[in-house]
Amino acid sequence: MNISRSRQMFERAQKSIPGGVNSPVRAFKSVDMNPLFIRKGKGSKIYDVDGNAYIDYVGSWGPLIVGHANETVLSAIEATLHDGTSFGAPTENEIVLAEMVKDAVPSMELVRLVNSGTEATMGAIRAARGYTGRDKIIKFEGCYHGSVDFLLVQAGSGATTLGKPDSAGVPASFVEATLLAEFNNLESVLDLVDQNPQEIAAIILEPVAGNMGMIPPQHGFLQGLRDVCDREGILLIFDEVMTGFRVDYGGAQAVFKVEPDLSTFGKVIGGGLPVGAYGGRQDIMTQVAPVGPVYQAGTLSGNPISVAAGIATLKILKEGNTYAELGQASAWLVNEIQSAFGKAGIPVQTHQIGGMFGFFLSETPVLQYQDALQTNADLFKKFFRNMLSNGVYLAPSAFESLFLSTAHTEADLEQTAEAIRQSLQAL
Ligand SMILES: *Cc1c(COP(=O)(O)O)cnc(C)c1O
Repeated sequence: MNISRSRQMFERAQKSIPGGVNSPVRAFKSVDMNPLFIRKGKGSKIYDVDGNAYIDYVGSWGPLIVGHANETVLSAIEATLHDGTSFGAPTENEIVLAEMVKDAVPSMELVRLVNSGTEATMGAIRAARGYTGRDKIIKFEGCYHGSVDFLLVQAGSGATTLGKPDSAGVPASFVEATLLAEFNNLESVLDLVDQNPQEIAAIILEPVAGNMGMIPPQHGFLQGLRDVCDREGILLIFDEVMTGFRVDYGGAQAVFKVEPDLSTFGKVIGGGLPVGAYGGRQDIMTQVAPVGPVYQAGTLSGNPISVAAGIATLKILKEGNTYAELGQASAWLVNEIQSAFGKAGIPVQTHQIGGMFGFFLSETPVLQYQDALQTNADLFKKFFRNMLSNGVYLAPSAFESLFLSTAHTEADLEQTAEAIRQSLQAL
């Protein structure tokens, strides 16, 4: 595989951009490689600057659920472009997108649009604190909620990939009110609640963890959180930035039938452009300015181009049997992973819901962050590189989820299964 142009660009990039990248996981550090510079994407494939093609299971880390350069999304963007790119004043399509989110996710009574998932979680927690008049929050080890200061504690994803669970530059006083529990361990939450009576504003989690690799909630875990929140006057926040419109049109809350008080969205709802959203119960969201005293703002929030891409994407997703089909295709692939690794004698654990899936190189079940850290990251590294040489682009870390798009064809899936077998053979 010739990647000489990518290598040259990486050298050049490092002279102007910290580490040569504008988001750390892009650097390919945990797989001991230089990043590939991408020239274009179309459908299920991306093409690097050296002309290599890859079947893409990253999809810009989740947003591109209808594939790269989808014609319908492109036309929606184009049609909007010519009428101006931002006004800092309300537009009709913001209502349309908010209505589509409400329609898909009934717990979203009011929706505020922002520019990223990070802004969404920041806004949701500020609203929760403003509403409850309490400061403390509970988050889970390995759950990532964007690069918000007080949420960058044991934050999975890039932080784990780089072996730095906590970030420098965050004052200790900023994380004092952040309490850490274990994913899928209700007892660890109940203990914290007991130790901090009347002090906890919110419990925030990824209802399906996706940033420590993919880990679904065990039966009863989400309902258990719902119950303790109801009992103690704590708000339950589902960070559905990854799972929203991904595991189902109604997100993880539709799959597991547990309603949070607040939810956050991002990734898919922007159709590949920068959008985030947070919202939920009317009585909480009316605490947000300009109705209430909780301030939150954004110059480009709800900008016409992003909103047009989001609306076009959601419209495509709503038609037909999108999620059943994504689920079937992902399940097929996960099955191929299991049988290929089984034949190679390598223990593997797989997880999959809708168009989101993942695998861990582990003999034992992976239920939470500490389990994920025990998996064979070294073997993953070699497998990842072999897959790349065989034309398949996986997330460059053992602690990320994988995504299927509606643009992936049966031939793509067959080719991926063959690449898996070849990559295992070459280990
Ligand atoms: C990606 C992600 C975020 C952050 O979203 P950005 O758009 O990158 O700021 C927050 N929460 C979850 C669960 C995510 O997967």
